[in-house]
Parts: sequence; structure tokens; C-alpha cells
Amino acid sequence: MTNASMTDDANTNDENKSKAAGGGNHTLYMIASIILAFVVAWLAPHFAASLEVGGEVFLRLLTMVVVPLVMASVMSGILGLGDVRKLGKPGAAAVGYYLMTTVLAVTIGVIVVNVFQPGVGVNAEQMLAEAASEASDVEEVASSNEHPKGISGIFKNLLLMLFTDNLLGSMVNTQLLPLIVFSIVFAGMLTTMGERAQLLSTLVTGVNDALLSFVMLLMKFAPIGIFCLVTSKFGEAFAQGTFVEQLNQLFWYVVTVLTGLGIHALIVLPFILWFFTRRNPFEFMRQMSDALLTAFSTASSSATLPVTMECAEKKAGVSKRSTEFVLPLGATINMDGTALYEAAAAIFIAQIHSATHPDFAFGLTEQIVIAVTATLAAIGAAGIPEAGLVTMLIVLNAVGLPIHYLPLILPVDWFLDRFRTATNAFGDSVGSAVVDQTFPKDETVAAA
Ligand code: ASP
Repeated sequence: MTNASMTDDANTNDENKSKAAGGGNHTLYMIASIILAFVVAWLAPHFAASLEVGGEVFLRLLTMVVVPLVMASVMSGILGLGDVRKLGKPGAAAVGYYLMTTVLAVTIGVIVVNVFQPGVGVNAEQMLAEAASEASDVEEVASSNEHPKGISGIFKNLLLMLFTDNLLGSMVNTQLLPLIVFSIVFAGMLTTMGERAQLLSTLVTGVNDALLSFVMLLMKFAPIGIFCLVTSKFGEAFAQGTFVEQLNQLFWYVVTVLTGLGIHALIVLPFILWFFTRRNPFEFMRQMSDALLTAFSTASSSATLPVTMECAEKKAGVSKRSTEFVLPLGATINMDGTALYEAAAAIFIAQIHSATHPDFAFGLTEQIVIAVTATLAAIGAAGIPEAGLVTMLIVLNAVGLPIHYLPLILPVDWFLDRFRTATNAFGDSVGSAVVDQTFPKDETVAAA
């Protein structure tokens, strides 16, 4: 890291504290806008649904910066480290953290669904008949995607997801993983080129800073964007008139998933944060609240990524070195909420299926297969709305459950998606704080 960038980091830290102090009002506006969004959607659902365009504009503005921000921030992170080899320990810590928290999340999902047993006693036939119109959507999803069979097939797919034969194509399709791999290698090369790479390095860090400033500007409009996103989606659901009924029918399933997510986000992750960093988890949650509310409103980890980075760095004071590396990777592969949901939903379907198919063997082995495939499916899920539903097919395939049950959970999926995306974003944020501890200490001392 250059002296200049170390001084920048020190200055940013001071700025952070003063900004964090004044950031409370903004969060209040965001919370107020979500509450108002529910009220408007409830009272005037058709009007609320017509505000969709406002939400779409906000979403597009956020999504627009994701690809350049991911590339610039990962590169700038490596350039800041000065040598890609210094990524070894934090890299291992990040992967260890992602795996540990995902496995914990899946375990919680398996436990809550076994305790609540939401699938027992569900009248699947009647609900499937009512959801007939959604069945064609599921067929479409099933046929438009390749679903690898067996654990080795899933691993092969995950490995291939890391690499691209067309860099521009990956940018166009927002495939972040190969872009992250490319950025690490490219910036690693730059660090070995000395003077010749100076101009390019300055450009990359400049682009990164400019994009983050753009996100800060965008966040000033977040209360309006979030209001439109939430009110239009709930307005649409209320206007159809069946949402409350569907929530009632799937009451225990919804309660099961929300309880699992609640345990993970409000007990497990805060404990991990406190254990590794001694930070106050609730203070940290407050500092990250803009990102959590954006995740809830957009149902997309990728679209939320710019806000997560901004909050972690500017409000929670996590070092740039950590946020630039841990958050982009986390938004792509670390999805605790999705993993928990996939395990719980698959076992819920298994409980329903077992009731009418006594010959269907569903024991400990199948539960373990579900846990393992749910972990892998969550790693492979894209950070976009309802991606978890698509990768659920992998989990169902793995234990031989028919996919024609998916329409059962489809009507409430968009609703649960919001909570699991917020959990995903919180998992990444905690990860950035935890992994921050493992970066080489010499720069920190020099910067202080
Ligand atoms: N919407 C989630 C996300 O972007 C993925 C999912 O669970 O569907 O993180």
C-alpha cells in the first residue's frame, strides 16, 4: 500500500465516524418509507402497483454500477495490498467463513423444519390445483436451465462458473465470479509491473472511488426508490387478492423459514461477529441498516452490493482492503439465507410428498444429502431475485423429489426472498468485519 493511500484510509476513518453519527436520520427515512409502502399497498393496491417504474429506475441505477464496481474494487483491493500473495491468509479466512456460516445456516434450516414439520397435514392436491397457473412457470424454469445430477456434476458446474471464455460476455450478463477471478489475476499482474503499471493503477483506484461516491449520491434517493419497490410489489400481491389467503395456507412454512432466518441473522451471525471482532453486533447492524433495508427491498444481493460496500466501509469502519475483496465475493457465493431456505423448503416438500407416497424413503441420509446440496446450490445461486428457487431444482433432484411441488411454494417465494436476501447481505457484512482481522497488520500500524 502506498503512503498516500494509507493516509487516505486514515482520513476516511475519521470521515466515517462523523458520517456514521449523522447517518441515523437516513436510516429512519428508509424504515419510514418501508412502513409507508406497506400502508399504501394495503389501502390502494392498484395505485401502489403503478409505482413499479420508480422502483425499477432505482434498481437499474444500482445494478448499473455493479459490474464496474466489482472489477474496480477487487483490483483496487489487490493493488492496495501491493502483492497478491498477501491475499493468502485473508482469502483462506474468507472461504472458511463463507463455508462455516453456510453450513450453520443449512443446519438451522434442517432443524427448524424438522421441529415445526410445516409439510405434515398440508392438502397438497387442493393447493396444487389452485396453483395450476404457476405450474407452467416451473416447467419453464426447469427446462430453461441445466440441472446437474449428482454431487460431482454440481462441483463441476461450480468450478466452471469461476471461468469464462468471454470477458465481455460475463460483464454483459453480470456473471460476477469470472470477473472477480480475472480482476484478482489482472491486478496481481499489475503489482509486478512497477512503474509501467502506475497509470493504470491510479486509474483503477480513481474509478473505484468515483463509483462509490456515485453510490453515496444514489443513497440519498434510496427512501423514494425503496418506497416504490416495496409498495409496488406488495400492491401487486394485494391487488391479486390471493396473497393473504396464500400466506394463511402456507402459514407454518412461512413461520418456519422466517424463524430459521431470524435465528441465523439475529443470534448466530451476531455471536460470530462478537466472538471474532468484539464489536457490538447491534451497533454493527445499525451501521449496516441501509444495506439490509436495500436488500429487503430489492431482493437482490448483487444490486445491494454497492450499498453494502458503502455502509461497511463508511459507516461500520471496516477497512477498504477487506470490503473490496470480501464483499464482492460474498455477494456471489456466500448466501446463508438462501442455503437455509433451500434446505427448509426441500424438506417441507419431502414432508408433503411422504404423506401420499409411503414408499418414498426419507431418512437421515436424505436429510444430509439435502443439506450438502443446499449448501452447493446456494453457492451457485446468482444474487438476483428468486434465484434460490431455480437452484432448488438441484436439491430436489438430488433426493429424487418431483419438481411438480414447486408451485406450492411459489406464491410466497418473492416474500421470503426479501428476508433471505437481507440475511445474505448481513452474512457478507459480518464476513468483511471478521476477515478484516486477518489482513497483514503492518499497514494498519503504519496507517494509524
Ligand atoms: N435473492 C437472493 C439474493 O439475491 C437469492 C435467492 O435466495 O433467491 O441474494
